[in-house]
Amino acid sequence: MNVPDKVFDDLSFLTALRHDLHAHPELGFEEVRTSDIVARHLEEMGISVHCGLGGTGVVGTLRVGDGARSIGLRADMDALAMPETAERPHKSTVPGKMHACGHDGHTVMLLGAARHLARTRTFSGTVHFIFQPAEEGRGGARRMMEDGLFSLFPCDAVYGLHNMPGLEVDEIAVVEGPQLASSDSWRVTFRGTGTHGAKPHLGRDPITAMATFLAALQTIIGRVVDPLQPAVVSACSVEAGDPQALNVIPDFAAVGGTARAYSAAVRDQLEEEIGRLARGTAEMFGIGADYRFERRIPPTVNDADATRRAYDAAASVFGDKVLSAFPPSTAGDDFAFFGQQAPGCYVWLGNGPAVEGALHHNTAYDFNDAAIPYGVAFWSALVERELASS
Ligand SMILES: [Zn+2]
Ligand SMILES: [Zn+2]
Repeated sequence: MNVPDKVFDDLSFLTALRHDLHAHPELGFEEVRTSDIVARHLEEMGISVHCGLGGTGVVGTLRVGDGARSIGLRADMDALAMPETAERPHKSTVPGKMHACGHDGHTVMLLGAARHLARTRTFSGTVHFIFQPAEEGRGGARRMMEDGLFSLFPCDAVYGLHNMPGLEVDEIAVVEGPQLASSDSWRVTFRGTGTHGAKPHLGRDPITAMATFLAALQTIIGRVVDPLQPAVVSACSVEAGDPQALNVIPDFAAVGGTARAYSAAVRDQLEEEIGRLARGTAEMFGIGADYRFERRIPPTVNDADATRRAYDAAASVFGDKVLSAFPPSTAGDDFAFFGQQAPGCYVWLGNGPAVEGALHHNTAYDFNDAAIPYGVAFWSALVERELASS
């Protein structure tokens, strides 16, 4: 392992800060306290700070030497709307909110790297420390971009990092290609003609159409999508009729769900095929169908060149503990939007074994403080190599 000594000098400060953030979790776009703390520490380091990007987002910019290259490093800051059940000294003090995804650790590690780099200044170029609000489904990345993130802070490459239980803290996975799935929502409303339940021939039954649609839905994965391309389509909500009116065939039957893919092409295919099936089924039963596909988050796909750069930096810190193969996650991360603006790489930093089975989004999850020096060292090495002074 090659973690600079100076990183360890900061460890008690960073660990205390991590515990403080963990005890005071804030949901997406409500990270007022967290972003104030981030901004204050960046300012104390002599880093120029831009607040309020995407509501509660913060960008710190550190420019050293005359290097023309500029990169962005992203940490997310938000917590989840769920109770913390495990007893620990830094347990959440806010009922119904907790850092169950380890974003408290992400925030602290990026601050630690900023502090280290502001002191050592052993690079030439510009680094933007991007502290993003609202990663957990509330659209913080998109809001930062709507507020001009990449026009105010142009980046030649962007990097993201997420903690990963199951990998040891001295391990890191840096893998080219798909890392996280797209996460989109779809809705179909079948429009029939309601009638007496005893006289179906006098109406057009939308429930039978919906049932036929649902029975055929998985043929999109099984018969249309390339079997070598992973994809998920799930129906997660159905709504029709009234359990108090069991002799009434309703006018409408609505169904909705999620769609996941690891490539833009398969994502397009899911959007088109769910709609085709919905319209075709409606046509078959002589009724109408309204279809909506809401594109929420694209897949996170690591760029080859950015991945090579991140891999080299990781190898300088983690030695032979860098994994170049690791299974992608079916979750989504809106870092994907940043990766559409500049070549990007998203890495998985070990969080140690899952403690009592607690994984991400579990009420007992906790970021592992032992990972802090590794995360700080990785970010710092990445900047020093990406923006190497010649
Ligand atoms: Zn999460
Ligand atoms: Zn997360």
